[in-house]
Amino acid sequence: MSSKYQAVIGLEVHVQLSTNTKIFCGCSTKFGSSPNSQTCPVCLGLPGALPVLNRKVVEYAIRAGLATDCTIARRSVFARKNYFYPDLPKGYQISQFELPICTGGHLDIDINSASNSLKRIGITRIHMEEDAGKLVHADVPGLAQGSGVDLNRACTPLLEIVSEPDIRSADEAVAYLKKLHQIVVYLGITDGNMEEGSFRCDANVSVMPVGSDRFGTRTETKNVNSFRFVKQAIEYEIERQIEVIEDGGRIVQETRLFDPATGMTRSMRGKEEAHDYRYFPDPDLVPLVISDDWVEDARLALPELPDRKRARYMAELGLTEYDADVLTANRELAHYFEDCTALAGQPKSVANWVMGELTRALNEDGNRSIADCPVTPRLLADLLALIDKGTISGKIAKTVFEEMYTTGREAGSIVAEKGLVQVSDTGEIEGIIDAIMKANAGQVEEFRSGKEKVFGFFVGQVMRASKGKANPAVVNELLLKKLKG
Ligand code: ADP
Ligand code: MG
Ligand code: ZN
Repeated sequence: MSSKYQAVIGLEVHVQLSTNTKIFCGCSTKFGSSPNSQTCPVCLGLPGALPVLNRKVVEYAIRAGLATDCTIARRSVFARKNYFYPDLPKGYQISQFELPICTGGHLDIDINSASNSLKRIGITRIHMEEDAGKLVHADVPGLAQGSGVDLNRACTPLLEIVSEPDIRSADEAVAYLKKLHQIVVYLGITDGNMEEGSFRCDANVSVMPVGSDRFGTRTETKNVNSFRFVKQAIEYEIERQIEVIEDGGRIVQETRLFDPATGMTRSMRGKEEAHDYRYFPDPDLVPLVISDDWVEDARLALPELPDRKRARYMAELGLTEYDADVLTANRELAHYFEDCTALAGQPKSVANWVMGELTRALNEDGNRSIADCPVTPRLLADLLALIDKGTISGKIAKTVFEEMYTTGREAGSIVAEKGLVQVSDTGEIEGIIDAIMKANAGQVEEFRSGKEKVFGFFVGQVMRASKGKANPAVVNELLLKKLKG
């Protein structure tokens, strides 16, 4: 970016809630069913059908609000947002406008991990709304060629989370989105699947001269559904706006679309074509009144959120900041780590195994999710207990782990079957050492004349002769004693 300009960014995020049924009817929200199989008079928008609010949606909105330090409105109102489009049979979307359920929150993002500096991004509001249907342009069965509308997604519950224009770069925008994504997934209110559109973002971008206190005119780039695309779209938009201004032009307020194929944004509709939504309170829905008790119960039921968890891993379990970061990055990983630590103790070695062997095996296994890892926390804890007791060495444990991963079997039975029990018996190890010293008299002399480097050679020989089963600590100790003579 040219150093003469400062970018200003505000994000609107749509989060699809993982309720079983839709926001105003009892239809299923399952993804990928055959078109229009999950519809009823309410979500088809048939005249006279009345919406009934899904309590779970309110519960989830409260959770999101509490997790981002918003004020939860004790009274909020659903409004009709009127526009015409074939995927919206009612001719309006039920949303919230003047009185949303949550306002005035914030999120702290890490903008420089080296100096640990946090930046606070304001959250203007969070409101509940219904999604629209989906137009399908393809060969639709029954229609030779053409377009159809699938209303399975109509009336699916969404939260819209609107940030203040506090973000100043594409990187900050991505940090904010990652943090928000992590939180809503931890809260268990969405599957967070970005490819399926469960978490998507509209990016509002403007630029102004550095030092100015008046924001420039913004454009809004719609529905960007990956972190990488958000970064590309914002960076492109900043450069484009600067160029327009440098060329003596003016930015027009407009809605734009991002094209992942080119990495560019293009105009979709300008201000003149902007909708006048003619918002008004929906007479079919009474104002939503939330009791203090409801909010307090929701507060008590909040799960431990990533920031808190991360701090606890460092303070109570003695993990490094890096380890705590990695282990709390996703909820399943954190749960696995905690379950295993509860059984095995030794948080540091559990962390090493989870971040090392386990993650590697999952990655090589087509990025398999830890939630369906064949080595369960209990199985891994059993393996660690065998190392801890000295039954097997850490090195052998890696071989055992491979076998556990492919077969799902227990460590103990693999160790027994393959005869992998570590040899700590000094008599047996002494026998091996004696034989090796005898066969390598020259190196023994070298060692005794001060060339201590050959020590490693002897360790290697003994380990090889024992097929890796000799206890390395015992080997070191005995070797040193015998070599020194
Ligand atoms: P709209 O419905 O017109 O999109 P919203 O209030 O829902 O309006 O969202 C406006 C978004 O644009 C917010 O995220 C806000 O922070 C952001 N925004 C407002 N002014 C600017 C600006 N000058 N530059 C960048 N972003 C802005
Ligand atoms: Mg908007
Ligand atoms: Zn329905």
